[in-house]
Amino acid sequence: MSVEVQKSKKEDNTLTATLNMIKQSIELSELSNDVYEHLKTPMRFVEVAVPVEMDDGSTKVFTGYRSQHNNVFGPYKGGIRYHPAVTTDSIKALSMWMTLKCSLVGVPFGGGKGAIVCDPLTMSMKEKERMTRSYVRVLGSILGPETDIPAPDVATDGQVMAWIADEYSNIMRVPSFGVVTGKPLAVGGCVGRTEATGKGVFFVTREAAAATGMDLEKARVAVQGFGNVGSNAAILFAEAGSPVVAVSDVSGGVYNPKGLDILALVNHVERTGFVKGFPGGDEITNADLLTIDCDVLIPAALENQLKGDNADQVKAKIIIEGANGPTTPEADHILKDNNILLVPDILANSGGVTVSYFEWVQNNYGFRWDLGTVNRRLEEKMTEAFKLVYSFYCEKCIGSDMRTGAYRYSIQRLAEAMQFRGWIRNGTHS
Ligand code: GLU
Repeated sequence: MSVEVQKSKKEDNTLTATLNMIKQSIELSELSNDVYEHLKTPMRFVEVAVPVEMDDGSTKVFTGYRSQHNNVFGPYKGGIRYHPAVTTDSIKALSMWMTLKCSLVGVPFGGGKGAIVCDPLTMSMKEKERMTRSYVRVLGSILGPETDIPAPDVATDGQVMAWIADEYSNIMRVPSFGVVTGKPLAVGGCVGRTEATGKGVFFVTREAAAATGMDLEKARVAVQGFGNVGSNAAILFAEAGSPVVAVSDVSGGVYNPKGLDILALVNHVERTGFVKGFPGGDEITNADLLTIDCDVLIPAALENQLKGDNADQVKAKIIIEGANGPTTPEADHILKDNNILLVPDILANSGGVTVSYFEWVQNNYGFRWDLGTVNRRLEEKMTEAFKLVYSFYCEKCIGSDMRTGAYRYSIQRLAEAMQFRGWIRNGTHS
């Protein structure tokens, strides 16, 4: 098979970049192009109108999406985000990453992703509730505990999941909480789910530090994004004794070379809503944070943060992608050339979907695990996934980067399942 790997025309075209990576990985692993045929497009992509009665009595119709990328391993799985800058291509790419992520970490799910194009910061709770319920009414028929299971993502949380579970249960006329994960404990949630992605980021960093001979306790950590993933990861690093020297969110950031008081910062953010104005450090911008003097950089915000124009200034030795897609292909090349180890999103942030899987299992058999069990199983899964991917990368991907290793590893597993299911005839030949 001869596959021309194109350079994405626009640096921020995540879908083109993802398709190029998938193509390239298939070629390097000498898999059949039929695998690419299955992965190049979602199995189903739905766009819906989501009518909402606003608090002032007017009606607004928002655009909603659900991308069901691939279900060779099981029900589609992936978050729903509320964000004004969502595009169809970004949702398709995000759903592809979920397919790759679930395969990589070995949970029996396929990949999906959904969104509503809206600005949640300008909406009241009641408006968000009505919008969420409206989304479920128009899309509920393609969701289900056995078919497609949403979860929290950017600007959605346990409360949003509880509304989805309730609306879906009303439609089905039977309590059916397994239709979403990331729910509050009172309605079938799993202990430790909220912290799971940040915890996974921490475990993966610990393994990456060990693999590269870095002393984690002395490692200076910088975290971009102080939402669910960034804040929980920062708390764990601080608890482990690693100085968290810089943190930022949409409002800007703070820097203290001696290490920030993370619990005080959490309190500040709870009080004011933002990192900005925290007195325990010097003010920096989001852009400054990415190139700050540190050992471990954790982009845990949005896509396309590390790019061709800033990657060369990154000083960290290890990058752990807490967010989905924070690095462009151009930045990937620069970081590799500068010998920076980048642990890719589909591995680094897979702690969230891993505990989503635990939640779904508990919902299915009606039995609750305790926090110790959840955390131990999460740690086992993350550590094992890191070791498998890292050794595959070191042994089979010489001269390449860990993202390529992770894609190849994940796609090989997908190809095997496709072949057994009869979707392709011969997965290993081009
Ligand atoms: N939104 C998270 C992710 O991107 C979690 C998905 C899930 O738990 O289904 O991995």
